[in-house]
Amino acid sequence: MKVVFKQPTAKVSEVFLSVQGEGVYAGEPHVFVRFHGCNMRCAFCDTPQPVAPEESSIRSIVDRIVDANAGNTAGAITITGGEPLLHSHFLKCLLPPLKEKGYSIHLDTNGTMPDRLNDVIGAVDIIAMDIKLPSSTKDKHFWEEHLAFLHAAKSRKVFVKMVITDETQESDIDKAVALIESVDSGIPLVLQPASEFGEFKSRPDVARIMGWQKKAREKLTDVRVIPQLHKIEGIR
Ligand code: SF4
Repeated sequence: MKVVFKQPTAKVSEVFLSVQGEGVYAGEPHVFVRFHGCNMRCAFCDTPQPVAPEESSIRSIVDRIVDANAGNTAGAITITGGEPLLHSHFLKCLLPPLKEKGYSIHLDTNGTMPDRLNDVIGAVDIIAMDIKLPSSTKDKHFWEEHLAFLHAAKSRKVFVKMVITDETQESDIDKAVALIESVDSGIPLVLQPASEFGEFKSRPDVARIMGWQKKAREKLTDVRVIPQLHKIEGIR
């Protein structure tokens, strides 16, 4: 009897070439692979969620990356979502061939699934990890998960990103800064003012954010305020 192995697939919303708009690598050309679905519901979420995301094989994603980067513009791939670690078993198969092609692999994650990070960390170069402040997200807190995640992530290049809205509480910032300091005070922290879109209106006060930056720099060596570049420039 002939045994047929089913090829792994995952729901992928889009594959495209653009400029990294967030964090310490903002401005670099990246190919983005956006996975469908998330385990969180952040008040400020602006991620497009297509009704019928494509069920994609590894072969088809690699082909779409090659097409998107036909001019060899990008040397890096950002794996994003939603929450890409929901698809960690699939990523375990997808990432090694992409690394073999010479790409630097960036993982953009909400930092809430430390066990799943361990599945893929060997094939990841850079981890852009969110700490989700409950006063910003209006979702539940993930302090324990974030702490375990950052401990696992520090074996790679990692930086932390926190979205700031006009409802963010200073006590959340203090807690997050203490969490990072307890792991490694040299891990870069990006304070990212939330972008307005649709009915979500939030204009966090810049002077307030700079005050939090100053306070955080008493504990951490690298704290930056970086808005979403692609929103300012109208890039995808
Ligand atoms: S973790 Fe990211 S994708 Fe998920 S709801 Fe929050 S902002 Fe949206």
